[in-house]
Amino acid sequence: MERILGLHHITAIAGDARRNQDFYTKVLGLRLVKKTVNFDDPGTYHFYFGNETGAPGTILTFFPWENIGAGRTGTGMATEIGYSVPAGSLEFWKERFTRAGVRHGEISRRLGEQYLSFQDPDGLNINLIVSGTEDNRAPWTTDEISAQYAIRGFHSITLTLRSIKPTATILTEIFGYHLSQQEGDRSRYVTDAVESASIVDLVEVPSGSAGYNAAGTNHHVAFRVKDDTILMEFREKIVKKGLQITPKIDRDYFFSLYFREPGGVLFELATDNPGFTRDEPLNELGSHLKLPKQYESSRARIEAVLPKLD
Ligand code: ZN
Repeated sequence: MERILGLHHITAIAGDARRNQDFYTKVLGLRLVKKTVNFDDPGTYHFYFGNETGAPGTILTFFPWENIGAGRTGTGMATEIGYSVPAGSLEFWKERFTRAGVRHGEISRRLGEQYLSFQDPDGLNINLIVSGTEDNRAPWTTDEISAQYAIRGFHSITLTLRSIKPTATILTEIFGYHLSQQEGDRSRYVTDAVESASIVDLVEVPSGSAGYNAAGTNHHVAFRVKDDTILMEFREKIVKKGLQITPKIDRDYFFSLYFREPGGVLFELATDNPGFTRDEPLNELGSHLKLPKQYESSRARIEAVLPKLD
């Protein structure tokens, strides 16, 4: 498995922390699998939402910065998150969004798949997509969202670029993806290393204006590798392409490398190990504020600064 195993997680920026947590756990019915702080800015939360275990390929994470203001979606950015949902569930979601006052589109079709687009409370663009291939991942369910409707995890990420070619080269030559479909300005790249969270759509907008990273936009896209040995093998391949890349960083729940791909999107490579049960048992995931060890001695100060969630 010395390959990129699809998406690991996607990280986006939010404004109000409590509103963010309520939307993803209550309206979308995801599990908060980890509540920690931004390791580079410990006065800010870092939320991880996913399935029961926070399996790679299901994890959407947020930095909620209370006063950050709205970002702008544009080129050089991940612009649409695709979640996989079961066939026949889109009407349920559309009705749910209407009742909850969530901005959403009509049920539509693209690249042979039905989807429903909506925006989270900060304006982040997300699509619920009925995958063309079977998705057997066990979902997290809630009182309001049973397994017949529940989100399975990621279907895809869409990157919007002035020119797709340099990014496509990274995907095909280093990451092992191949071009599978094209429709209009959208080119679909897929890896067959995994069965889900395996798609990256590249949208080419030659005259598009650059995105601005603040609330309601994606910060980075993390791709999945099995462990740190393979992580470092990919590091070498990326260095050989002449790109700048960070050293290995310990993110407590995985090991990471970051590099900016030539189209401007911040990419991360992240490992399966050690996972979210490293500091909390499975049945308690997300229920405690977890701090990395360098901040544990400042816990009281950090807890006093963080926004109240209930
Ligand atoms: Zn990340």
